[in-house]
This record gives sequence, structure tokens and C-alpha cells, in this order.
Amino acid sequence: MAELAARLRAIVGADNVRDDAVALALASTDLFDWPDAATAELVVRPGSSEETAGVLRAVAEARRAVVPRGAGLSYTAGAVSFVPAVVIDTARLHAIAIDAGNLVATVGAGTTWAALAERLQPLHLRIAAPAPISGSHSTVGGAAAQNLPGGMDGFVGATVVLVDGTLVRTGSAARRGTSAFWRHHGPDLTGLFLGDCGAFGVKTELSLRLAPEKPADFASFAFGDAAGLVAALVELMRGQVVTRGFAMDRLRARAAAKLEPGEAARTLGAVVARAGSVGQALRDTAQLARVALSPAGSEAPWALHLTAEADSERAAAERIAAAREICAAGREIDNVIPKTLRAKPFSVRGMIGPEGERWVPVHGIVPLTRAVAAMAALESAIADEQRELDRVGLAVNWVVSSMGAYVTIEPMFYWRDALEPIHLDALSPRNRERFGAFAANPEGRALARRLRLRLRDVLDAHDAVHAQIGRFYRFTEQMDDGSAALVRRIKAALDPDGRMNPGVLGL
Ligand SMILES: Cc1cc2nc3c(=O)[nH]c(=O)nc-3n(C[C@H](O)[C@H](O)[C@H](O)COP(=O)(O)OP(=O)(O)OC[C@H]3O[C@@H](n4cnc5c(N)ncnc54)[C@H](O)[C@@H]3O)c2cc1C
Repeated sequence: MAELAARLRAIVGADNVRDDAVALALASTDLFDWPDAATAELVVRPGSSEETAGVLRAVAEARRAVVPRGAGLSYTAGAVSFVPAVVIDTARLHAIAIDAGNLVATVGAGTTWAALAERLQPLHLRIAAPAPISGSHSTVGGAAAQNLPGGMDGFVGATVVLVDGTLVRTGSAARRGTSAFWRHHGPDLTGLFLGDCGAFGVKTELSLRLAPEKPADFASFAFGDAAGLVAALVELMRGQVVTRGFAMDRLRARAAAKLEPGEAARTLGAVVARAGSVGQALRDTAQLARVALSPAGSEAPWALHLTAEADSERAAAERIAAAREICAAGREIDNVIPKTLRAKPFSVRGMIGPEGERWVPVHGIVPLTRAVAAMAALESAIADEQRELDRVGLAVNWVVSSMGAYVTIEPMFYWRDALEPIHLDALSPRNRERFGAFAANPEGRALARRLRLRLRDVLDAHDAVHAQIGRFYRFTEQMDDGSAALVRRIKAALDPDGRMNPGVLGL
């Protein structure tokens, strides 16, 4: 390993190859606990696509396994190898090039979503892809590798380094001298690398479609039960009435409203900056102050938050008016949550509970026609386990969301347990002090692990597919023979020795 480390230092610089215990341990974790995890052998931070190609050629000669890693803020072991591996950390791949004339941004794979959004704001442009809420810290490359529940149409092309060091470009940029402006140029090779969890190569650059900012209107509704809420969401999405629907249960709403003072001020600033007029800004400030005392929908068992974007404010308001009719079974409440979510879309505070609890979700993306039944089956499975949940001290919260012809259902578990360096690194100093000394709770972890598997099976029985497949959700195992053979043949062609993120996608 010392010989490989020396070769890699010659390529990326001495500071960008780590072999100390702290760095290796951190690069071997994500937000959950994986008893089968192996400790990384080296952590390498290349600074360009060419350096990444040099690194992978050296690692190929040493015949070591490779794991690409962004911020490590996932929870399905996609970035946690079960065999010792050299970790390629993309943190130094953060260049941003904006081609506003062609509505494209090309960014290094380690760029955070928030860094890109910040650069676009003065240009009145936005990222067309639905970015993850963790985007203040998580990377564009990590999301590209995992799929986003809202869809991957916003990706125009990628630069990828294969396991033998071959550097490839996809989309229009694959043609010599042509920029990344259009995804579809022959077969969709960009699609091949989206959602691969890093099984097919290391993405070093991604090109993303940009779009002009659009006016939006908002509404929120309280519902007495999940069934009525999910039925309304399905109708809204089938009719393409709103752009985004996002629902939380009462516990989740209370947790979401627990902002720290600094974060509350930043949220207020973001909402007011988006308000569009002084009068609207004053109304929004008053609304946020009211909600800080009594969080929107926090007394309702369930709340559905809607955002409708359109070409004019009037058209957006018309969409919300149509949504009101569909949500007639609910009661309209303060719309501060969807407004805040649009103004300040990124935060990793939710990686732990309001009192510092450990958190782990499980999700399924189900067809519109299966959503009500899937929700009922999940609620029934949880009710079945309620005694055990109470005994061990696990709370269950829910998020249900959609931006198209599907519904994502995401039950999440919270329990008191020791936090790991990956959590503590992302917390504010105040919260690090408050939550940093909890004792380990192996029983809580074990129950979360068992219930996650149980709920995954319930979702799969309702035709669920999954983003973030990693080493947790089943992929090739559930495919018909021909489709599984195709995936295996692609893997064998790109990575004959199976050294690129071995085990993800069941490969
Ligand atoms: C508070 C919070 C909110 C979240 N909200 C959302 C959300 O709204 N939507 C959502 O989808 N997820 C969400 N997540 C989950 C997670 O943060 C995202 O899926 C995120 O996109 C992961 O990015 P990352 O940079 O942390 O990737 P990592 O965890 O580092 O990696 C994830 C996977 O991608 C692979 N990978 C990473 N970079 C590359 C690369 N350059 N080339 C090839 N493979 C690569 C890894 O090998 C691994 O398989 C949330 C997490 C938290 C903590």
C-alpha cells in the first residue's frame, strides 16, 4: 500500500492522499451503521478529470478496489465498501462553469448543489433538476450516481473515468470540439452512468440543464389521515395541477420547525429576498413570526404543502385555486412551509432529530395507482410493530412527496443513540456540544435495521422502485433474466475484474 500511496502522491500532491486512521474511518461510513463495512485503504482527492484518470490507472496496476465518494451523506451503503478499497473523494472537483447562453452549467462532481444555486441566483436562473435537501453539503456527483426521486432529465452530460483510467464524455460533448448542450446524441450514454451508484465509473464532471426562474404560488392543507392526503396528492399529480407536493405527519412538522436562531434568521432572509415586493416581504415576515410560535400544520395529524409554478403569477394562482378544489377534504392552513422550502431549499439539520436523535429513512417510489394502498400497508406494518417501537424508544415520522407521475413514500426512524463523526462534522458547534456525548444504543440500531428491511419489502410488494440503491435496495435480484443479463454484461465490459464499487446494484 505504501508504494501505491507514493505513486498517488506524485499524481495529486502529498496533501491529497490520506492514510491516517481518522480519514480512513470517516471515508468508510455513511449516515447509518453497517456491521459488514471494511475500512478504506487510502483516501485520494484528485483535482481534475486527468488526475482522476492517472489515479485510476495507478490503482488498476495495483489491482485494488475503488469506491467513489461525494459527501457521504447517504444511508444505503453505496459509499461504504464491504471489501477494503481505495476511496476517490471528489471534494476537490468543484469548478463551476456557467454557459447561460445555452442554459447549461458544467460542474465538478464534488460541487455542492448550494454552491451552484448561489452562482445562478444573480443570473435569475435555476437548476432544472430537483436537487436534494441535503444539497448544502451533498454533491452533484453523489446525486447523479444515486438517481433523484424527482427524475434525472435535468442532466445533459457527464465526464466519467472508467476503472482502467479511460476518460469518456457523454451527450453532445462526446463529439470532438462540441460543448455539452444536448443530452441525446446517439444512444443515451449519459443515462448509463446516472443511478449506477458508481458501479460503472467515477463521474468527474456533470452538465446540468438550467431554466429561468418562474413565478410560483403556494398552499398548505391539514388532513385528518394519510389516506385522504395521499388520494388528494395522486389527483393533483395526475392532473399536473401543481409542480410539487410535499407532505409530513405531525411529528415531522414539529421537527422541521425546530430551527436554531442563526438558521431561523437565514431562513427569514431567504424568504424575504424571494418575496418580490416590500408589501409581500412584510407579510412574509409576519407569517414566519406567527409560525415560529405555532408551526404550520403542527396540530394536524397530516399536512400537504403545494407549490405551483407557472409562466405568470396569475397562472400560478389559478393552479392553486384548482388545487383547493381537489383538497376540499382538507383544511387550508398557513402556507409558510412550501414558501420556505422554495426560498431556502437546502439544510442538513434533518440528519438528526430535534433532540439529536439518530435518523434513518427508507423510501419507495410507487405508481400513482398504488400509492393509497402502499401507504395503508406501511401504516399497518408500523401499527403491528408499535409495542416494540415503544419498548425500544423508536419514533416513526413520514414524508410523502411528488413532482410528477409517481409518489415517494418515506417512513423515517428516530432513536436516541451515539452520533458518529460524520454527523458531528456537519452540526453547528452548539449542537455538537448538546448532542455529542450520547451512549451507543445497539438495540435501537438493530430495530431500525430490521424495520427498514420490513418496510422495504412492503414497498416492493406495491411495485416500488428506489433511488439510492447502493447495497440496500434490490436491483438485479428483482429483474427478469434478460434485463439482469444486460446489466451484468455492461458491468463486465466496463469493469471485467469487478473492482469498481463492488457490491452496489447487487453486482
Ligand atoms: C438532511 C438530509 C436530507 C436529504 N434529502 C434528500 C433529498 O431531498 N433527496 C434525495 O434524493 N436524497 C436526500 N438525502 C440523501 C443524500 O444526501 C442524497 O442522496 C445525496 O445526493 C447524496 O450525495 P453525496 O454527495 O452525499 O453522495 P455519497 O453519499 O458520497 O455517495 C452516494 C453514492 O454515489 C456514489 N458516488 C458519489 N460520487 C460519485 C461520483 N463522482 N462518481 C460516481 N459515483 C459517485 C457513491 O459511490 C455512492 O454509491 C438527504 C440526506 C440528508 C442527510
